[in-house]
Amino acid sequence: MFETLSQRIRAAVDKLRGRGRITEADLKATLREIRMSLLEADVNFEVAKGFVQSVQEKTLGAQVLESLTPAEQILSVVYEELVKMLGGEAKQPVLKSEGNLWFMVGLQGSGKTTTSGKLALFYKSKGRRPLLVAADTQRPAARDQLRILGERIGVPVLEVADGERPETTRTRIQQHLTFDYRDLVIVDTAGRLQIDEALMGELAKLKGVLGPSETLLVVDAMTGQEALNVSKAFEERIGVSGLILTKLDGDARGGAALSARHVTGKPIYFAGVSEKIEGGLEPFYPDRLAQRILG
Ligand code: GDP
Repeated sequence: MFETLSQRIRAAVDKLRGRGRITEADLKATLREIRMSLLEADVNFEVAKGFVQSVQEKTLGAQVLESLTPAEQILSVVYEELVKMLGGEAKQPVLKSEGNLWFMVGLQGSGKTTTSGKLALFYKSKGRRPLLVAADTQRPAARDQLRILGERIGVPVLEVADGERPETTRTRIQQHLTFDYRDLVIVDTAGRLQIDEALMGELAKLKGVLGPSETLLVVDAMTGQEALNVSKAFEERIGVSGLILTKLDGDARGGAALSARHVTGKPIYFAGVSEKIEGGLEPFYPDRLAQRILG
């Protein structure tokens, strides 16, 4: 994950390591290199700019350059700013003892159905009793996909019928909760290849009736800057409480994901790191990712 970005940032910082004295010009050259590597990894322009400015202010202002260990201190400021850019403290979706309904939204192909299965398995292994709801009536194959997935991981799947009214879906979910003691409902909704008004209207309506406790936007990290536009559109039209970034196992352009927190203002809860349901989802820890990037 982020191998190219990591290599470049490390190479830039390594030039400073082992030097007794670092001039302001050295520092600026290093920061320029870091900025370039962020931009090439597709980190949002404003985010990259803000990052470099922050590191510069904190290192030039604090007499870091005159200190005995300037390179180490610069590195620790870079680390702090990287953690901050990724969202600071790790956050998890709110999970109450009951009444948890998570609404999964995102474009078609973003990994919504797969991620719904991954989440169900993740929380099942923690002792929860999930229920999956296949509400993607646009793509019948998605319902089959979720049903098969549910059978494999031992989680029941409620299939929404074509043209079913949201109120009916709500009642059917309620029946499962009452008779089958399910405590976490994960609703896989329809996606389109592009954002369109009809889809947004349907989603907003279903959301209004189901009243989810979390609305999780699934974002394909491989789609670069477009991922951020998608996030903004869903936030404006549907409202989003947190993000799940998928396909972080592919390295290319994953940098957009690094700015997702900053641009949307929403926490990143999980990262999809493989196609596999088992072990393919990891809680997102900004500090661990920053450590990994800096090596
Ligand atoms: P949906 O249309 O949003 O429901 O997307 P799907 O769940 O069907 O996923 C689309 C494709 O992305 C499938 O081939 C998945 O196996 C793949 N996929 C989903 N999440 C990940 C991930 O984290 N890593 C990788 N490599 N592939 C993923």
